[in-house]
Order: sequence, then C-alpha cells, then structure tokens
Amino acid sequence: MRLTRRHFLGAGGAFAAAAGLAPLLAGRGARAAQPRAYPYTLSDAQWRAKLTPAQYEVLRRAGTERPYTSPLNDEHRAGTFACAGCAQNLFSSTTKFDSGTGWPSFWQPLDHAVDTLEDRSFGMRRTAVNCSNCGGHLGHVFDDGPRPTGLRYCMNGVAMRFTPQA
Ligand SMILES: [Zn+2]
Repeated sequence: MRLTRRHFLGAGGAFAAAAGLAPLLAGRGARAAQPRAYPYTLSDAQWRAKLTPAQYEVLRRAGTERPYTSPLNDEHRAGTFACAGCAQNLFSSTTKFDSGTGWPSFWQPLDHAVDTLEDRSFGMRRTAVNCSNCGGHLGHVFDDGPRPTGLRYCMNGVAMRFTPQA
C-alpha cells in the first residue's frame, strides 16, 4: 500500500490545514510537507457546482455519511464502483463484501486507484483513503477485513457511482 499525502493546493489544502493536518504532516519530515497535486483538480467553487451537497461534504470535506443510508450497501451486481468526483474507477464488485457496518466495504481497491493518508481526527488514529486522481476523500481502511488481504476499505457510498457490467 502506498502512503501518500493530501495535497496542499486549492481549497482541499486549505481545509486540510484548517483541520490541523498541516502540523501533523510537518512533523513527519520536510519531504512530507511537499505539496501533492492530483491530476484532476478543480477550484472549490467548481467542486461545489459539480457535486451534490452530500457528495461535497464527504469528498471535499472528509465527511462521513450516516451508516445504512447508501443504496450501494445492497448493490450486489457485477460491475465497477467509480469516484463520484472524477469518475476514476476505484473498486471491482469482485472485492466487495458485507462488513455489517452499514458502509459499502471492499477488501482491495483497483491498482493505483486510491491513496492513503494518516488521519488523527476525532481523537482516533485511522488511515484515510482518497481517490488517487482527484484527491477526494472516500473513507478509511482498517486491518480487520477478510482474506486474502485482511483489509477492510470502509467507503462512503455517496462518494462513489456504480456501473453494472455490460
Ligand atoms: Zn476522484
């Protein structure tokens, strides 16, 4: 798993700094303070125009949807889950499992689809998962998942779009 940093450009960076991530990253060495520019970048105003308020809250402000609210919990068809922000494919249905948490869960993302980032918000130490193309916050990854990876990618359904296999 690659460990990368949230970018510090644009509105997302401003939020990251406001949320106290800047001191955390600065403490991890000079290299960690380098800006990370994602390939797909929009201004905050453009994101607000593009996304629904619920999508914006999760993807651009690292919010969390209420459990059991996403229709994707019960999506069991073969297909692909993509980022609701930039449409990059993130997860295959073949790695989806029922975690019982109320959030769509996967044991493995598609290759190079996501970045991970240490998240110490709310007094917890978690690993946040971002889209590697737009930097949008998707959810968190935990190490209590099923085989073969033992990982549980706990995703916000509102941050994704599902396309059934043709
Ligand atoms: Zn994205």
